[in-house]
Amino acid sequence: MNTKKIIRIKSKDEIGVLRQAGRILSLISEEIKRSLKSGITTKDIDSLAESLMKKHKVAPAFKGYRGFPCSVCTSVNQEVVHGIPKNRSLKDGDIISVDLGIIFNDFYSDTAFTIGVGTITPELKRLLDVTEKSLYVGIDKARPENHLSDISHAIQTFVEAHHLSVVREFVGHGIGRNLHEEPEVPNFGPAHCGPILEEGMVLAIEPMVNLGTYKTRILEDGWTVVTEDGKPSAHFEHSVAIMANGPLILTQK
Ligand code: MG
Repeated sequence: MNTKKIIRIKSKDEIGVLRQAGRILSLISEEIKRSLKSGITTKDIDSLAESLMKKHKVAPAFKGYRGFPCSVCTSVNQEVVHGIPKNRSLKDGDIISVDLGIIFNDFYSDTAFTIGVGTITPELKRLLDVTEKSLYVGIDKARPENHLSDISHAIQTFVEAHHLSVVREFVGHGIGRNLHEEPEVPNFGPAHCGPILEEGMVLAIEPMVNLGTYKTRILEDGWTVVTEDGKPSAHFEHSVAIMANGPLILTQK
């Protein structure tokens, strides 16, 4: 058996399809952001996402994936990722991470954001700001000739300089005709390690950043990841194509 881990290189045409998919996903993501307010349930967010996906004629990538029951992941406060939408109302001062993926013309696209509900504390605002900025710090390293771990190292260095911690147990990934492809993209580690990045690689880069310890555990539902110390966590993600002249963020307008 060939166990060599292959990073699939996408053609220009394939990147064109991934860009279309990413544009649609960013429209859906923006509309969900606008709907988030105190009183709505995470199940409402899932229903909205599903109807938007239907409207844009794309399929939810997460529904049924390894048995996941919904179209989006909704992770509130100390929940890191993979929260299952349910009848839980958001309230003023909460933070919520929404992770969404679609399938468009046989290609996957994946993005995530964290947002405050109503007024959040300055501490939470800083958590969100640093996490979002760390994503762009990582994306900036997604260039030909860099090593994969230059992305990881840049994210960790940035986050820790702000006295926050990066989750170790969950990482980013390659993306294309599959939701999760090689390589894994950790948000931590030394620089100048791992594969050399090449034009045509497509990566979902997704720092998960905690206010307290980086350690996490999984709840009894088998999905929801929470911080071990119960402190809040944030998550931002873009799908990014590595082009000759640098990174192309696919999941934006
Ligand atoms: Mg992802």
